[in-house]
This record gives sequence, structure tokens and C-alpha cells, in this order.
Amino acid sequence: LRAQGPNYLSGLNPEQREAVETLDGPLLVLAGAGTGKTRVLTTRIAHILALGRARPFEILAVTFTNKAAREMRERVGQLLGHAAEGMEWLGTFHSIGARMLRRHAELAGLKPSFTILDTDDQIRLIKQALAAENIDDKRWPARQLAFAIDGWKNRALSPKDVPAGEAQAYANGRGAELYTLYQTRLKQLNAVDFGDLLLEPIQIFRENPDVLAQYHRRFRYMLVDEYQDTNVAQYLWLRLLAQGSKNLACVGDDDQSIYGWRGAEVENILKFDRDFPGAKVVRLERNYRSTGHILNAASFLIAKNEGRLGKTLRPQTELGEKVTVAGSWDSGEEARAIGDEIEALQSRGHRLDDMAILVRASFQMREFEERFITLGLPYRVVGGPRFYERAEIRDAMAYLRVVASPADALAFERIVNVPKRGLGDATVKQIIERARADEVTLPEASRRLVAEGALAAKARSALKDLVLSFDRWSAEMDRIPHVELAEKVLEESGYTDMWSKDRTAEAQGRLENLKELVRSMEPFENLRGFLEHVSLVMDVDGARGEDAVTVMTLHAAKGLEFDTVFLPGWEEGLFPHQRSLDENGRAGLEEERRLAYVGVTRARRRAKIWFASNRRVHGMWQSSIPSRFLDELPEADVEVLEAPVTFGAGHMGGSYGPSRFDRAEPFASTYSTPGWKRAQERGFDRGATPSPGPGARRSGPMTIEGELVASSTAKA
Ligand code: ATP
Ligand code: MG
Repeated sequence: LRAQGPNYLSGLNPEQREAVETLDGPLLVLAGAGTGKTRVLTTRIAHILALGRARPFEILAVTFTNKAAREMRERVGQLLGHAAEGMEWLGTFHSIGARMLRRHAELAGLKPSFTILDTDDQIRLIKQALAAENIDDKRWPARQLAFAIDGWKNRALSPKDVPAGEAQAYANGRGAELYTLYQTRLKQLNAVDFGDLLLEPIQIFRENPDVLAQYHRRFRYMLVDEYQDTNVAQYLWLRLLAQGSKNLACVGDDDQSIYGWRGAEVENILKFDRDFPGAKVVRLERNYRSTGHILNAASFLIAKNEGRLGKTLRPQTELGEKVTVAGSWDSGEEARAIGDEIEALQSRGHRLDDMAILVRASFQMREFEERFITLGLPYRVVGGPRFYERAEIRDAMAYLRVVASPADALAFERIVNVPKRGLGDATVKQIIERARADEVTLPEASRRLVAEGALAAKARSALKDLVLSFDRWSAEMDRIPHVELAEKVLEESGYTDMWSKDRTAEAQGRLENLKELVRSMEPFENLRGFLEHVSLVMDVDGARGEDAVTVMTLHAAKGLEFDTVFLPGWEEGLFPHQRSLDENGRAGLEEERRLAYVGVTRARRRAKIWFASNRRVHGMWQSSIPSRFLDELPEADVEVLEAPVTFGAGHMGGSYGPSRFDRAEPFASTYSTPGWKRAQERGFDRGATPSPGPGARRSGPMTIEGELVASSTAKA
């Protein structure tokens, strides 16, 4: 046996190997799902390191999620046979941007300890700015401006670059002005939002050629996964950095571009060879992930899209199981049926780790979570900072943020009167105004007000206590372990106690979440490290280490794979999502279809699609009809299941359960109709679909206000 080169190269096919071994110059791997693109990137890093072409900290590697970064790091280690230490620049765009910005904060008018605001804080800050400008936020919602600002930042536009027409659209032409104001407030607070994590470095690079040159010297090799989902800012940032070594390797799949709604430009991948002259383009066609039926179904579905390059995908294994499609009466039953199926698989020896439920909108998750809790089935919710969005977690985090940086005004404001200390809105307003007038932090302003005896006696003493407590905790930060400190802060502040005394049903769960929060701090070196992590995470494993089912959004599932994938909620209005259709028409529909393609191609062996006839959306029951995507699956690769469970009483005419996936039985009678429009209209107008329960209500047209994605998430 003759050696075929280093061990880590031996499993690759010739095209993959070419992509790994072409180290110099720009490279694009453009290939469909499961063809080994990520594997190529990982192996490439191992190869660069093994050949000594660069040291670990001279490689810039960008992944789409923190989870993907973690996995890549582990895989490189496995390929090399020893841990890949010192890969400081392997991470998401946001985490790498944050790292750069901390190193050069002063060039952006920030201190290195700046805080990273999440959406909630961002909205609060915008509300303040609107109030200061006497703009009615009922007429001009803060969210609308936040959305516009995010959009501008995704396109790397600073306030002066905002096209006049777009600035016009908000508050009678005051959009750009408010954007400026918002940026000024951020700087005053020593804070940035997610968009700034790339926008600021871009500006620093442009204004400080010496800084950029420093990175040019550093990064000998650059690698980017999921290139099809880069937005303009990410693209510009990369292009600036790639002016150095030119060794930029990007991999992606135009059919998996699913972040258009957040500013991703699939054109970036299509014009790669123009942007980076001399680029080598490698195509991969063998799919190593999915069995034949699954791959056929996915390929057939995506072929319905018009705007695509078109790629061949060849399965490498047997046809395997057909994709299944099943209907349920309502979303609760869907969760029960899937829960049963998971238990059945488990009893046949399948691991929960190998199963995932991929939802279109994050509100769908709760029903599964509840079902799994009832069954005692371990699960983890990945892909959204759901955990960190819970009120008690946000409160606790706010305490810790103030401890770490007393200048964090938004955090201070959040907890100054939680638990209630008799510091009402008027007092808080007074503190904020004082801070602004004196240009000091809120704790400092509080101190001054207390010293001057400015407030009512009760408020004064409460505020004094609070400020002294923060001083004490901050002083302890470097002295006692951060986990201990966190417990102490939550206890001494009265926060834990507040929930212990609370009699509502959720209080117990909240206390458990707080415990979980403290537990989750353990792996970190110190409090700052933990806070940085939380502001960046998009994937928190709820049940790390334990065999558990994964629940996540389709968006967050990009790049991942599981033996069994459950795809619930394939209903018109939910998937394709009504909002995408309304806002972006055909392009929106195509993006939804790409999302369906991403979903199906996550499965190695089993893809199980579900749809419900009734779904509760924001507390209101709505009847629904199966997704048009079901019609677009090839019959030969799909098996339509009889409903495996009994259906709710009051349901029309007994045995419900689709016998064909092309608009199931129950609809045949009521929706005997050509075309979706008619079916939809009739379905929504008639009201003939019985409500699932006595108290249930049906609403009008099916719109789903639920979030499109667990984002912040979708903050990569
Ligand atoms: P996606 O488009 O979903 O991100 P991808 O192109 O990045 O997919 P990978 O995740 O890298 O694909 O690979 C898919 C699966 O195929 C993985 O389990 C990987 O280990 C396996 N694989 C890739 N290349 C080979 C190969 N040459 N031989 C055997 N298995 C392979
Ligand atoms: Mg991949």
C-alpha cells in the first residue's frame, strides 16, 4: 500500500482534494448540500497547519454560527491528531468583528470594554432617542427605525451614506438624522449593536491603512463557510482583508441562500470570480449525507426555483427510506405524534442526539418543548438565544453587566427598580437626566443625587444601598470566582428572593432558569468572558452532554446534519411564510423554497414532514391548508402516511388523514379547487372548519406575526 499523502487527505474525492490542496490564490467551492464543502474547509485548515504554511493565529476562518466554529475547531484537532490551539480568529463574523473592535476601540471612539447591545436594548435606546426628539413612537414605531438602521448597517451605510429616498421613509425624512443620534448615544454609552461589529472595523480599516496593513500581514489564509449568506458589510470587510494575501477560500451553495431578508446578497457568490480575479472554482457533486429518496426529493423541490445556477447532486448510498408526509388535526397533536415517533425510534436503539425538529418560526418550538417536558424526553433548543431572552435571565444578566461595567446605562435602568425598591419612573428619569447633564454613569449620577439629598427619603436610602452594593460586587469581581459572585449578586440584590416569594405558576421555572444561568457560567474564565459570550451566542445547548433531541429553526440548522429530521408546520402561511410572500413576492417564495431545501437536506436517513389543519397563532386558532411545497415533492420519493393518531372530536367526517400528499383527503371535499388562491380564500372565508375546542376562536386571514427566525440569531 502506497501512502496517498497525509492521512487526513485520504478520504477525500479528487475534487475535494483539489480544493484542499490549492492553497494559493482565491478559491471558490460552489456545490450543493452535503457535498463536503465544510469538510473541505476544515481539512484545508489542517493542511495549512500541517504544512507549516501558517501558524494557527495567522488563519482567519469564518463560520456562520458559534456552534459551527466550535465543531470546526474540534474537527481540525481530530485531523491533525492534536488540539488546534491558538486559532484565535476562527469564529463568526460577529465574534471576529468584536475581537478586532476591542483591539482598536479607541479608533472608533469607544473604550475596549464596550458592551454589545441586543435587540431589546437597541429598541429601548431608540425609544429614548425618539422621546428626546419628541417623535411619537406610536406613529413611528421604534422597531421600524431599528429595522431600517439594521438594514443600513448590513449594507455598510453610515448615516451620511443613507440614500435620501430611504431616509425619507421614516418620521418625515428624519431617518438619517435619527440614525446619527442613535450612533451618538451608543458612543456615549460605550456600546455597539451587532451591525457595528463589522461596520466599525470597516471604517477603521478605511481610515487607518496601517491597521489594515497589520491584518494583511497577519492573515496568510482566509476561509469562509456559507458564503452565499454574506451581506454587503461582511463582503466589504472580507474584501478589505483579502487585499493582503489573496488566499481567500470561500464555500457556498446558491440554493441555500436563506438570509436575503437580513441583507444577504447571493450575488456575492455569483460574482466571486470577478471580485477576486484568477479565482479557481471547484464544483462538488457527490452528496455524502443523505440517502437517495431524500436527496431526490430535495433536488426535485429546489428545481422549481427559477433564479438558480443549477447543480447536479449524486447520492453515494442506497435509496433508503422515503420522505414521509403526515397530517395532524392541530399543532398539539403534531407535537404529540412527533413525540411518540421519537420515543419509538429511541426504543429501537436510535440516539436522541441524531434527531432534530426543524421549525419555520420559533413560536412553533414551545409546543414541542412542553410535550417533551411531559414525556421526560431530553431536548435542547438551539439556534436562538431563547434562554437569554427570558425576562429573569435578562434581569440577572443586567445585574452582572452593571457589575462588570458600571457605565452600562441600559442594564442599570432595567434593574434599578427590580425587585421593587420604591424607585419609580420619576426617580429613574431624574437619574438619567443627571447622568446626561454631568456626563457621568448612572450609578455615579445616583451617588451624586443621594449625596445631595435630592430624592425622597425612602428612594434615597434604597438607591444608596443599591449603589453601594454594586461598588462592593464590582470590587469583588477579580477576587472571588465569577460563579460565586453571580450567586451572591442575585441573592444580595433580592432578585432570587423576589421569585421565591412569587406565587405565579412560572416562578418555579424562573428560579430554575436562574440556576441554569449560574451553571452555564462555569466553563468561562471570568465574568467578562461570560458576558462577551452571551452577547454573541446564538446557540446555547440546553442539555449539553446528555443525549437529547434538538429543536431549532430551519435558519439555524444550516450546515448541520441529523439521521432523522422532523419538519413540522408545512402549511400555507407558515411555510412558505406569509410575510415573505407579502413582502417579497416571487423572490420571497423562492427563498422559502430554499429554506425547505435546506430543511430536507439536513437529513441523513429520515425526513419526516408534518402539517396541521389547525394551528394556534398568538392565542388564536386558525385553520390552515397544506403547504404548496408538499405538492412540489416527487411522488416516487415520498410516502404519505395515514394519520397515526386519533383526532379531536368535532372533526369533519371521521377518518382524517391524507391519503395523497397532493392536498389530502379532508381538503378534497372542502377545497376541491384548482389553484392555491381559491383554496386559500375559501378556506379562510368559510369558517367551516370546526374549532378545536369550545373556547377556541378563528381569526381572519392567516398571518403569522411570530418571529421568522430565532435570530440575533440569527445573529451569526
Ligand atoms: P451543507 O451544504 O449542508 O453545509 P456541506 O457541503 O458543507 O453541506 P459537509 O457537511 O462538509 O457538507 O459534509 C456532509 C457529510 O458528508 C458529512 O457527514 C461529511 O463528513 C461527509 N463527507 C464529506 N466528504 C466526504 C467524503 N469524501 N467521503 C465520505 N464522507 C464525506
Ligand atoms: Mg457546510
